[in-house]
Amino acid sequence: MIPVNKPYLPDLGKYQRYIEGIYDRAWLTNNGPMVQELKARLEDYLGVKHLLPVANGTLALQLAYKALNVSGSAITTPFTFVATASSLKWEGITPQFADIDPHSLNLCPDRAAGQIDSHTSAIVPVHVYGNACDVKGFEAIASENQLKIIYDAAHAFGVNYQGQSILNYGDASTLSFHATKVFHTVEGGAVIFKDADAYERAFKMINFGIDTSNGKIVDCGTNAKMSEVHAAMGLTVLDKIDEVIDRRCQLHRQYQANLKNVVELPGWRSGTNQNGAYMPIIFKSAPECTAVFTALRDQGIIVRRYFSPSLAQVEALGDNRHSTPIADDFANRVLCLPLYYDLTSGELEQVCNALKKALQTL
Ligand SMILES: *Cc1c(COP(=O)(O)O)cnc(C)c1O
Repeated sequence: MIPVNKPYLPDLGKYQRYIEGIYDRAWLTNNGPMVQELKARLEDYLGVKHLLPVANGTLALQLAYKALNVSGSAITTPFTFVATASSLKWEGITPQFADIDPHSLNLCPDRAAGQIDSHTSAIVPVHVYGNACDVKGFEAIASENQLKIIYDAAHAFGVNYQGQSILNYGDASTLSFHATKVFHTVEGGAVIFKDADAYERAFKMINFGIDTSNGKIVDCGTNAKMSEVHAAMGLTVLDKIDEVIDRRCQLHRQYQANLKNVVELPGWRSGTNQNGAYMPIIFKSAPECTAVFTALRDQGIIVRRYFSPSLAQVEALGDNRHSTPIADDFANRVLCLPLYYDLTSGELEQVCNALKKALQTL
């Protein structure tokens, strides 16, 4: 069997050495030395400031909304993982879906702008598959309408746009360090704030709103702290991250070469590097997509309908007042192929051959 994803597991001995440090100190959580070290090293590696490690990528989104006083409604994309929109709804903010750009599959700034009304307080675009959004376009709309921008950058670890981290755009960007992501801490995530003030507020919010310098409760908070054990995994993975990303990008290039003229791929924004996070392919039609999905599964090759359904069609997320035909269409004919550090070139060839064969026998 070839799974669609497999978490990267670093050398056990190296992980154990970090864990031994935790045992020696008996400091397991509450902004311990491993979390502090991870924060500093991630800021350095990614080229960002004000990075707050948290318990997962969904809480990272919720905190960003809270710390930036997002309320009413927020415009977002229906072509994403459910957490982008469910985190809004969970915070009492109405997700308002605007359609995507058919080239990049990212939220389209013009279509987003067309939906701004008196309730809108933020735009929440997603760098889907690690492909940079039209950040300049969103910047213009947000400043014109005094909206906050929170980028769900869960796929964009290590992605730079025009020479600097994509995480430096917007009022905040959020990362997920879930086991299946490019960089992981088993469970975890982070918020990168533009302003120190918002960072400071969120820093207290993840610890019940307590100001640890005087023990006073100064804000309404929650518990979104990252533990030392999770940070230890993060540090162990971070030691190897260049190797992990290089390998994933190499596999990504091999897929691209092999599937050239076979399937369509999302258009990559120029000036943006790849991080090998996903291998999305686009079929001509929904039946073609379904047929390949089934044919591969029958041979033990697991692919994923990432992202389907279009969130605009999920009732639990709210009633969508605007139609999103482009996102709804792509959601029905996109698949993600297996891509992970341990995938061999031979297995990759096997996936490509099975895919081509399935298309030929249609
Ligand atoms: C993974 C992911 C999340 C959620 O992150 P968790 O760490 O699993 O909570 C949010 N948004 C997107 C786009 C994701 O892919």
